[in-house]
Amino acid sequence: MAKERSEVVQEDRWNVEALYPNFDAWQKAYDKISREGKQPHWPEIAAFRGKLQDGPDTLKSALELVFSLDRELSKIYTYAHLRHDEELTNDQSKVAYNRVLGLLHEFQQEVSWFEPELLALSDATIQNYLSSPVLADYRFHLEKIVRIKAHTLSSEKEELLALAGKALQTSHKAFSAINDADFKFGMVLDGHGSEHEMTHGTYGLFNRSQDRVLRKNAFKKMHGKFAKYENTLAELLNGQVQAHLLNARARKYPSCLEAALFPKNVDVAVYHALIQAVHENMGALHNYVELRKKILGLDSLHLYDLYVPLTADVDIKMSYPEAFDAVIESSAPLGAEYQNLLRHGLKSDRWVDRYENKNKRSGAYSSGCYDSMPYILMNYKGLLRDVFTLAHEAGHSMHSLLSHKTQPYHYGDYPIFLAEVASTFNEDLLTRLLLERAKSKEEKIFLINQKIEDIRTTFFRQVMFAEFELMIHEKAENNIPLTPTLLKDLYRDLNARYFGNSVFLDPESDMEWARIPHFYYNFYVYQYATGISAALALADNVVKGGKTEREAYLNFLKSGSSRYPIDILQRAGVDMRTAQPVQATIAKFNALVKELEQLFVPETKNLQKTILSS
Ligand SMILES: [Zn+2]
Repeated sequence: MAKERSEVVQEDRWNVEALYPNFDAWQKAYDKISREGKQPHWPEIAAFRGKLQDGPDTLKSALELVFSLDRELSKIYTYAHLRHDEELTNDQSKVAYNRVLGLLHEFQQEVSWFEPELLALSDATIQNYLSSPVLADYRFHLEKIVRIKAHTLSSEKEELLALAGKALQTSHKAFSAINDADFKFGMVLDGHGSEHEMTHGTYGLFNRSQDRVLRKNAFKKMHGKFAKYENTLAELLNGQVQAHLLNARARKYPSCLEAALFPKNVDVAVYHALIQAVHENMGALHNYVELRKKILGLDSLHLYDLYVPLTADVDIKMSYPEAFDAVIESSAPLGAEYQNLLRHGLKSDRWVDRYENKNKRSGAYSSGCYDSMPYILMNYKGLLRDVFTLAHEAGHSMHSLLSHKTQPYHYGDYPIFLAEVASTFNEDLLTRLLLERAKSKEEKIFLINQKIEDIRTTFFRQVMFAEFELMIHEKAENNIPLTPTLLKDLYRDLNARYFGNSVFLDPESDMEWARIPHFYYNFYVYQYATGISAALALADNVVKGGKTEREAYLNFLKSGSSRYPIDILQRAGVDMRTAQPVQATIAKFNALVKELEQLFVPETKNLQKTILSS
């Protein structure tokens, strides 16, 4: 039975008191900054309106004001959100959390004029600001804003686009509503004839079940539901793509892809090279699904056979202190200083809220703000999976800690493009350590298969999604309507190409496009694939290299958002503009599949038969 929050001992709780000793202290800070009841809350921001042209000193003062308010607000937010998540039913936390969300929204409103005013300045004024020593600390921040000037419209047109913005979110919102709320999937039967309720949550479990009947029924039911509404779902996706197209055309970008990538300074060549490298190495994935089919002893492999573990769960259980030791030990390649900071943070500073308690938020994350330590929410249960989660979140937390320590506030947070690099990096180090230590063949198989599945789902699957996203936007750009038939045809071709002949494609497989929320995000998923490629390449560099490679990686962790993400990665030692890191990821995948095959040879009858007959 999970404990009540009030029964959780201090050692197992995160150190929120370091932010504010209690809600009273928090309330005082809130009252001081919020100026509740006043409109506007911060007249000192409005005082700068129309004055950004006055000179570098004025602009600097305005930037400093906005950032210092933002910084204080994020501290107030962090406390309320941590207290909220540790016990979701606590009324005091709920009220505090919702109040601070409201306040943040009003802050956004009150600063919303800032960027448009900056972008409306003449080119000469902007050039003057960019070269001014007064604004040197903000140069890159300004550059990022000014970068989109050529794609910014007159103020009336911008206003019109902003007005249309809410209406253009309808497709995404309607998709979320139907997917998260309206769709009920009902019951599915398992192999013993027992019924189970299917939700998005249980679908993931059924997908991994050793009971093939359950997997099959769940797959058919899930995709069957989406198939029944294929016309509506095609229109929703079409609406989203049309919104991207409108934005791209209005802002004079040559394509939707360019419109999505240009503001982040990611060259579209990075996107195309990713897809191309996978196309050239499709055999890697084909070999793996073929091996999976043999190991599972199946005559035909269906998409619902892709997630089931190849061994029954190995019984590696670790207590939290053991997991802590493993995570610290595995980070040895990053040097003693890194290890000490992490050890101190996890233990003495109490970054981590370790175990489940009643009404605590599920899952895991790393959070915090510029003026706080990193905070890690866990629901640690002692499974090997949990040990990897700790390594993952520790990676994020160290990235935050080092960036916050090194960078000024406005460059303190790392961009989305880099978000999963440090976490994946630390998971990779943990895999290496546990593989070295593995005593039984089962442990080895489990660890290798987990790594293979990581690469399959974070790399190959996301590249397939990225390719689909590109296809549907190109169709729209060419005035080809996205009908259910077209979407299903495109998706079937992709499935066939990515999985090869070893997989039997049930008709339901064609409907997967209809249930992927990420297709409403605007060219987002490729970042999972570039992220894991960068992480694996950097981990290889650090483990095989010396001081230079390690320092380069530590500098990456210290960089925050002080440069464009591709530049930060390049300095760390990996150039995402080339196919090299992507090819290295595929090579690693191939090597792991080979290793897995060898581990199975003596044990799998089916495999033996194939080997004998070939
Ligand atoms: Zn993460």
